[in-house]
Formats: sequence, C-alpha cells, structure tokens
Amino acid sequence: MKDAQLVNEARRALVHAYAPYSDYRVAAALLAGDGKVYTGVNVENASYSLTLCAERAALAAAVSAGQRRFLALGIVSEKKPDPVPCGACRQALAEFAPDCRILVSAAGGEEILYRLAELLPRPFSCQAEASHE
Ligand code: ZN
Repeated sequence: MKDAQLVNEARRALVHAYAPYSDYRVAAALLAGDGKVYTGVNVENASYSLTLCAERAALAAAVSAGQRRFLALGIVSEKKPDPVPCGACRQALAEFAPDCRILVSAAGGEEILYRLAELLPRPFSCQAEASHE
C-alpha cells in the first residue's frame, strides 16, 4: 500500500473523531504486516485524562483483531499542530513495531515521514529482547 493511500484511509476515518473539548480531531490508519488497515480516532472524555488518542485506538483495534506486526501508521488532523504522535502513543507503538514508519499529514497537505525509532530512540522495555509474537 502506498503512503498516500494509508493517509487517505485515516482521512476517511476523521469524521468519526470525538473531540468536543479540544476541537482537535485526529484519525490514524495502521498498516498491518498482512496488508490490512485498522483505523482509530481520538476519543475524548469529560474527564480529560481518559482521552484516547487516535494512534492507540487504531493499535487496539488491530491487536484486537489478532495483528502483531505493523509496517506504517498514517495520521491526519484537521488543523495545526501537525499530529505527531504523543509520547504515550510512541511507547505503545514501540511494543509491536519499534521502527514503524510514521506518516504525518501536515496541515499544509504534505506528508512528513518519521521512523518510530527516530521519535522514540529509547523505548521502555522490561525484557532484554521483547517478543512481539
Ligand atoms: Zn497519543
């Protein structure tokens, strides 16, 4: 799947974002190793700290479907700032895909490519060699 297609999958999911408090809607599309795509949106809550980011929503959907290997994540938002994953999402993604490609769709329309290892060079791990199986 091409990068632009993955970002478009995220863009299609954006309508489902639930962000009445921040008005900052985000959607993510996660490409699994078998080519399937799982989307997620941010889900805010009146108790702000319960808010779930789009990236972790997509990851939970994919893992719930039995996926364990991921190749790329596309993230879109409607406005600035560009939706670069927060630290919690970086750590959550590192559990399964430590060098995942991260495609951030900037408000200007261009896509910025990061590698997860670049965004989170030293993820926490309680295992010497984490098993992702
Ligand atoms: Zn996050």
